[in-house]
Amino acid sequence: MIKYKSFLIKYAEIGVKGKNKYIFEDALVRQIRLALNRIDGEYNVHKEEGRIYVDTLSDYDYEEVIKALQCVFGIVGICPLVQIEDNGFEDLCEKVISYIDEVYENKNITFKVNARRARKNYPLESMEINRKVGEIILDKFPEMRVDVHNPMLMLNIEIRKHINIYSETLKGPGGMPIGTAGKAMLLLSGGIDSPVAGYMISKRGVELEATYFHTPPYTSERAKQKVMDLAKKVAVYSGPIRLNIVDFTDIQMYIYEKCPHDELTIIMKRVMFKIAEHLAKESGALGLVTGESIGQVSSQTLQSLGVINEVCTIPVFRPVIAFDKQDIVDIAIKIDTYETSILPYEDCCTTFVAKHPVTKPNINVIKKSEEKLDEKIDELVKTAIDTVKAVTIEA
Ligand code: ATP
Ligand code: MG
Repeated sequence: MIKYKSFLIKYAEIGVKGKNKYIFEDALVRQIRLALNRIDGEYNVHKEEGRIYVDTLSDYDYEEVIKALQCVFGIVGICPLVQIEDNGFEDLCEKVISYIDEVYENKNITFKVNARRARKNYPLESMEINRKVGEIILDKFPEMRVDVHNPMLMLNIEIRKHINIYSETLKGPGGMPIGTAGKAMLLLSGGIDSPVAGYMISKRGVELEATYFHTPPYTSERAKQKVMDLAKKVAVYSGPIRLNIVDFTDIQMYIYEKCPHDELTIIMKRVMFKIAEHLAKESGALGLVTGESIGQVSSQTLQSLGVINEVCTIPVFRPVIAFDKQDIVDIAIKIDTYETSILPYEDCCTTFVAKHPVTKPNINVIKKSEEKLDEKIDELVKTAIDTVKAVTIEA
């Protein structure tokens, strides 16, 4: 197999940002560097004439590079590239022939030459290049046939400062580069949904911080480790995640002691959201992110979501709100969080859940119940916030 020295990185949406384009390109370059830092080899990621290139400076593993790049939001296509100097048209044709010979063992294929002359002082026009290179290919490889509508091999030749030859485009993840859309606070539990929600929001360029509510001894060290493992998997895409671990036991016990048990989940969630919002504001996160999906459980009816949401002054983003469970599971499998999420460690919500939780809570009723917490809740919340343990989790 041909050992490519470079890859051309294609990006779509970020190409249309006008004067801010460089911000997006620079963020993309930064994220590509971070992703390649995690694998073996030395790489030079650079911008040239409005395009982004990855040059390999050492030996590298092709599959590993592609896999790393496929986790970088903002990339729509990865083109393994042969880049040559302009040593005249004849030299170009020779290079094209050896490229095809190396990359396409089976020559019984259709092709089209797609030349683009970005540098206008090149002596041949694009159409002439198409025609002449096409003729030489047909001459050299008689089994190959031209198909201008639906070719099996689209041979791209870009005449720029250098000349780019490529024919393959591997799919990137799309989205926007991390760091171009601010930061949000993910409420990360050990379940299937919240890691997927985190992945989805970070796909839009949003940096993630996360908060996990831990309830020892009702939830074990293993349950906490599971959340950290999930954060590590999401961080493959989102970049490093600062994870705040909140000790929620005293608050949970206090609510359990004072409030009607069928309202427990709702009241608990309201306190969780309040604490998460506090932490979000402290660190400049502009919204909360949850894995809630309408109707999945009693606390995810529209009424419940509304009552929970009522404590927040910053927006709460729910990327999987209208997703069926299976659709969420499919993404969890794709981003490799599923196997970790289904490990059977207890979750604070299941430990204390009532047999018949309210499904249509009324905000006034809930507020009335919360009055029973007046004596100690502020102090407990303050302690929970003061004793937060933060760890930064990298992929
Ligand atoms: P998940 O699969 O993400 O655990 P779920 O379907 O189990 O979600 P709930 O337990 O009702 O749903 O939680 C709804 C959302 O609330 C979660 O997606 C998560 O964002 C947040 N959440 C729940 N429990 C915790 C927790 N212990 N720590 C942090 N966030 C939590
Ligand atoms: Mg859960």
